[in-house]
Parts: sequence; C-alpha cells; structure tokens
Amino acid sequence: MESVVLKSISSRQTALPAPPPTMASGGQAAISSPCAGCKFLRRKCQADCIFAPYFPPEQPQKFVNVHRVFGASNVSKILSELSPFQREDAVNSLAYEAEMRLRDPVSGCVGIITVLQRRLHQLQIDLFRAQSELVKYQSVAEGIEMEQLQRHHHQQQKMMMMRGYTAEMVGSFARPSIAGGDDHHHNTLGAIS
Ligand SMILES: [Zn+2]
Repeated sequence: MESVVLKSISSRQTALPAPPPTMASGGQAAISSPCAGCKFLRRKCQADCIFAPYFPPEQPQKFVNVHRVFGASNVSKILSELSPFQREDAVNSLAYEAEMRLRDPVSGCVGIITVLQRRLHQLQIDLFRAQSELVKYQSVAEGIEMEQLQRHHHQQQKMMMMRGYTAEMVGSFARPSIAGGDDHHHNTLGAIS
C-alpha cells in the first residue's frame, strides 16, 4: 500500500513539474543560443564572446561574409584592438566591405565608391552649369528691368523738359509780347514824341 501511495505521489510529483522544465529549457535555449559567429565556428558562445553583440543568430550571412573575406580570427583581433564603442561601426564597415568584395571580387567597395564619386562629380558639373545659366537669366532680367527704369526715367525727363519748354515758351511768348508792347509803347511814344 505504502509503496503504491509513494509511487503515485512521486509519479504525480514528477508529472506535475514536468511541463515547466520544458518551458524553462526552451527559454534558456533562446537566451543562450550562440551568436552567428560561434554557431558557424561550432563553438560554445561564452558570455564575453566578442562576436555576440554584433553578429546576432538571426543574421548568419553577415558573419559568413566577414569570415570568408577577412577570416574570423582577424575580425576577432580587429575588434579586440578597438574600444567597445567603436566595434559596432567597425563590424558594419567590415560587413559592407565583405559583401561588396564578394559581389565584385576585383574592385570590392572601391568600385561602388568610384561610381558614386563619378556621379557626384557629374552632379557638381550639372549644378555649376545650372547656376551659371540662372545667373545669365538673372542678369538679362535685371538688364530689362534697368532698361525699363531708364526708359521711364527718360520719359519723365522728356515730360519735365516738355513742361519746361512749354513754360519757357509761354514765358518767351509772354515776354516778347510785353517787350514788344514796351517797344511798341516806346515806338508809339517815340512816334508820338
Ligand atoms: Zn559567440
């Protein structure tokens, strides 16, 4: 009887805690899943693994490329010689260089840089041309504006001069008449005298 009870308890005890360990082991597996580097190199991913922060297991190709071009030991050496805050940028540049080198075994990323530099140079030429053309149009527009202003000014001067003329003419018409009148007066006076 006793043994049966114990057995049933023990079986119950073993049966009851059975589900949590599977969950726990699943969780532990997720936490301690090796980084892409250690997975590829088939080694245990240590807590202080230099690859772990930069080569997550979800991006296996990133490590494969870098390893194929530079070699895992060289990458490890490069990273260990840098300050931790510089390592992410270094890994990103190594990954970029490796990907480009695999795509273009002759030029690597220099090929892309050359293409972009050429495009940049062409764009600078285009920009310079567009700016000089714009300056031309602006100077033409300014010339037209100046001409219009000068024409307006001339017209105003002409009008002023015309007014002056008419005033002068009125004056000159008026003065001789007065003078003539005077002369006439004189003459008449003279004639009279
Ligand atoms: Zn690792």
